[in-house]
Amino acid sequence: MLDSFKHQGLRNLLVEKLRLKGIKNEAILDAISKVPRHLFMDSSFSDHAYQDKAFPISSGQTISQPYTVAFQTELLNVSSGDKVLEIGTGSGYQAAVLCEMGIKVYTIERIKSLFLKSKSFLTSINYHPKKIIYGDGFLGYDEKAPYDAIIVTAGAKEIPKDLVTQLKNGGVMVIPIGNSSQKMIQYCKKSNSEFEINEFGDFKFVPMLKDTI
Ligand code: SAH
Repeated sequence: MLDSFKHQGLRNLLVEKLRLKGIKNEAILDAISKVPRHLFMDSSFSDHAYQDKAFPISSGQTISQPYTVAFQTELLNVSSGDKVLEIGTGSGYQAAVLCEMGIKVYTIERIKSLFLKSKSFLTSINYHPKKIIYGDGFLGYDEKAPYDAIIVTAGAKEIPKDLVTQLKNGGVMVIPIGNSSQKMIQYCKKSNSEFEINEFGDFKFVPMLKDTI
């Protein structure tokens, strides 16, 4: 059984929970009500897939908490047709939410086994990012720059310079910054020399690391 009425019911409850926690963007809530999160997780956790919690996936990484996915996506200020670069494909769940919203998604993962797994899994459930890239997200993906928005789903020590360069003027990067815990940062690029930074609450992400493995 892939998806079921029971799973749909649990997703609807999750969406109501996200509304209560302050998520307002209907396109995001609608996408979360459609993406079968339980299929992105190890079957031993799938009963818990619609709790608002992060869970382990393979290679010591995590699938982000639904609230975090919704919150980061809301800060991106994007809508259908926009081009978004994601750093940290992981399970592919965040990429699927963006695809469901009609976003043109480019997503990069540094761990080869995760990259291969998520690439074939996303295709198998009919989500088609424009490109899933095996590489080091610190370098971005210059070939398709500039992006309307960039979302980083691993915790960084500082804002990576190459990613700022690949962001459109008027574009937004959402990135958790910090060591053991991170502040969510919304970096708004006004022009090549002007930017605005908004800081939001505390989050806990796996670290953004250099190089591929
Ligand atoms: N967006 C994911 C969250 C996965 S956790 C999801 O929805 O499931 C963060 C991911 O970022 C991990 O898979 C980790 O391997 C990856 N990552 C960390 N540093 C990276 C880098 N420099 N480039 C690309 N991916 C990176």
